[in-house]
Amino acid sequence: MNYYSLNRQSPKVNFKEATIKGQAPDKGLYFPEKIPVLPKSFFEDIVQMPNEEMAYKVIAPFVGDVMSENVLQQIVNETINFSIPIVPVSDNIFALEMFHGKTLAFKDVGARFMSRCLGYFVKDNNKKVTVLVATSGDTGGAVADGFYDVEGVQVVILYPSGKVSSVQEKQLTTLGKNIFALEVNGTFDDCQQMVKQAFNDVSLMQQIFLTSANSINVARWLPQQFFYYLAYKQWKDKSLPPVISVPSGNFGNICAGILAYKSGLPINHFIAACNANDVIPKFMETKAYIPQQAVPTISNAMDVGNPSNFVRILEMFDGNADLLSTVFSAVRVTDEETKLAIKEIDSTEGYLMDPHGAVGYIALKNHLQNHPGLSGIFAETAHPIKFYDVVEEIIQREIPLPASIEALMHYEKKSTAIEADYEVLKSYLLSMQH
Ligand SMILES: *Cc1c(COP(=O)(O)O)cnc(C)c1O
Repeated sequence: MNYYSLNRQSPKVNFKEATIKGQAPDKGLYFPEKIPVLPKSFFEDIVQMPNEEMAYKVIAPFVGDVMSENVLQQIVNETINFSIPIVPVSDNIFALEMFHGKTLAFKDVGARFMSRCLGYFVKDNNKKVTVLVATSGDTGGAVADGFYDVEGVQVVILYPSGKVSSVQEKQLTTLGKNIFALEVNGTFDDCQQMVKQAFNDVSLMQQIFLTSANSINVARWLPQQFFYYLAYKQWKDKSLPPVISVPSGNFGNICAGILAYKSGLPINHFIAACNANDVIPKFMETKAYIPQQAVPTISNAMDVGNPSNFVRILEMFDGNADLLSTVFSAVRVTDEETKLAIKEIDSTEGYLMDPHGAVGYIALKNHLQNHPGLSGIFAETAHPIKFYDVVEEIIQREIPLPASIEALMHYEKKSTAIEADYEVLKSYLLSMQH
């Protein structure tokens, strides 16, 4: 499989090069040249098929011949080595729990797959690779965990100071070794902007071997398709495919779901559930894409004012928003609605949602009210404990800390505070090379 840049000014590359580069030289996102279509038999057999075999069949065409079958199968197995169940919440609403991985958010899947691919691709390099990543909260922990102690790779994580939860901060600042955390005095968008600037800095790129682990990287984006195949595999009524609602920030997760749909996965409709950061809901209404400053909310991993992956979604519909709107809608949910839903579903259904999943739940519930007869799944993208600061206040009781998190809270935070200034980041990166 080859990948082209969505800016169409750079040469095509294979999966290995796309993974190592992260972003194309013309600053475009890489996109697969051809979306594979899975045979009918694949969907007929899906219920009996072991998850590992299913996931391998999904990803293999995207990876192509840059690694052997055995190596890829091993990476796939290590990527989905935890359960991803569908749990009933109410009559026609189910939660797809994506958070049973090590850092308790869905990003473990993408980060585990990418770190293993990159580790494999650079193992014969004599130059150290620096993975540079901006996080709104959960990416940092997942990437830190995925790359921890991987030979030949060092990781620099930028996160917005005071805007991530305490569990998230511990996950990305306490590992040490080859993991370095930069606490930026600014927003997630500032962090993302600094990272983008680094990749566009020709002189820096000549001096160090830099790559990205944000969801713009194909090796993080593509394996997220597994969630949607696993959801369908567990879906009881195959004659009536589910509506899927995905709490969205940078739009990588939902974009992977839509890619799966394009490969033939039966889905009724996709809903991008957004918080107050509503650039895409506005776009779907007005057809004008106007990036905005990120607004802080209680679902902080979705506080993104210029979602990178939306261009990939548009690409799958030839840039035609009307065509897109036949299978995709985007809605905005307020913090107040989110808090109410967490409280209500906890007390009436005994299901505790995290603030991100709750945004997805509300969007789904509203959609189903307007489309009687359908049922659906919302992506529960993080364990509520990751946001206990917010959730405990809403439900007025403590959530028991899992042992792994309890231990984490006692480790010492190690981060370097910096201003949201690209030059500061640049000198930091250069000084690390010695
Ligand atoms: C990152 C994240 C999101 C948003 O996912 P995108 O792929 O950026 O749209 C939603 N919920 C949680 C818990 C996250 O960590």
